[in-house]
Amino acid sequence: MLSRPRSTIAQAARVFATLSLGAVVAVASSVSAFAQNVPVIRDAEIEALVRDYARPIFKAAGLANDGIDIVLVNDQSFNAFVTGRRLFINTGALMTAETPNEIIGVIAHEAGHIAGGHQQKLRDQLERAKTMAIIATLLGAGAIAAGAATNSRGLAGAGMGVAAGGGEMAQRSILAYQRTEEMTADRSAITYLNATGQSGMGMLKTFHRFQTALSLSGAQVDPYRISHPMPQDRIANLEVLVKQSPYVDKIDPPALQQRHDMMRVKIAVYMDGQAAASRLIRKMPGSLAAQYGDAQATYLFGDIATALAKTNALIKTQPKNAYFQELRGDILMKANRPKDAADAYAKAVSLDPARSGLLPVSWGQALMAIGTPDSLKKAVVQINNGLGRDKENSAGYRYLAQAYGELGDIPGAELATAEGHFYSGNYKDAKIFAMRAQQQMKRGEPRWLRAQDIINYTPSNKIKIK
Ligand SMILES: [Zn+2]
Repeated sequence: MLSRPRSTIAQAARVFATLSLGAVVAVASSVSAFAQNVPVIRDAEIEALVRDYARPIFKAAGLANDGIDIVLVNDQSFNAFVTGRRLFINTGALMTAETPNEIIGVIAHEAGHIAGGHQQKLRDQLERAKTMAIIATLLGAGAIAAGAATNSRGLAGAGMGVAAGGGEMAQRSILAYQRTEEMTADRSAITYLNATGQSGMGMLKTFHRFQTALSLSGAQVDPYRISHPMPQDRIANLEVLVKQSPYVDKIDPPALQQRHDMMRVKIAVYMDGQAAASRLIRKMPGSLAAQYGDAQATYLFGDIATALAKTNALIKTQPKNAYFQELRGDILMKANRPKDAADAYAKAVSLDPARSGLLPVSWGQALMAIGTPDSLKKAVVQINNGLGRDKENSAGYRYLAQAYGELGDIPGAELATAEGHFYSGNYKDAKIFAMRAQQQMKRGEPRWLRAQDIINYTPSNKIKIK
């Protein structure tokens, strides 16, 4: 990020539909003000954790259990749903849940809806749609204008194929279920939780909270509560099932709880600001999560040298933690030490068990910041590596285009820009850049053929909400 001029908040918001937590900080002077406008946040650590929550449940439910994409929707309300290969979850849901089990229970319930074939038609449409189109549908026009495109046409106008229809209520009722379907999904959820040796208490706690929240007038309405009816008899039935389970008293493994705490602290620090983070950190005195939050808050709001010392201490505690290395890289980038940052990101990539596509892109950015022809070539390799793992990382294509540009490979830069537009669902601009790239390429060469694929692509699916 340091290799190019700092963007203003507005420019950054126009450019990126999604941002990594680190990038949010790098481009924005006011972290929380900007972060609130980004509809999707990307973070290797959080995505890996939620995927670890989902994988055993998906397996028990007979659903695809590898290659699950976790989409973190930046919204403080509670919502979560699965389309098939993608699990959408609001940061608000992750922040509300004090234990992994609460999230795992909700994922189990959602898996129950899929296994039951509930809302299959809509779900098929969602599965074919680009992630950003779904986000636009979920969050509505406000989020589109603020986060993804300030160019007045928004995602829908840019060919995203979203028919949001009835405004806010339509968004709330996306994937709305009938009461009988809820009972079926609850029963399936208990089956999956039992099969994986986990308690249903977290799910029960979450649903109880929605039920009691109904009496609060004027409180924020959680989309999840609107789509999932929770009448008294349903919760009562669920309670019986949960308590019959031999695993009712099973609690999450301490290492998983620790990762959960670290995730919540991270969301608080990056998205909710210093005060909110301090409040949460005070509830976890002496914990590694508190230490992690403190290091992150120092990086964002305090002294860089102190942040580095605190992060080095974290690394001493868990030398194999990829995300501590990632934080170290972020800090070194802010300190204008791209060479050291590149080393830290390289370590993060080698330690990351989840093989996130985000970390190689960060490594590539550090290599770009070094700025020599050799490091630029290495940057291209790493960014391409990251994009190979994660094709919808629209910010990654921007860095790739910049790296090609600095190397003098203009058609490469234009094709990368075309790809970025393509995977954001902005097909019109994707075609424009693909055609420009082709003009400088040899007809029939691999890159020319890829450009042709983009030019020939016809978006066909619209998301229709009843
Ligand atoms: Zn449900």
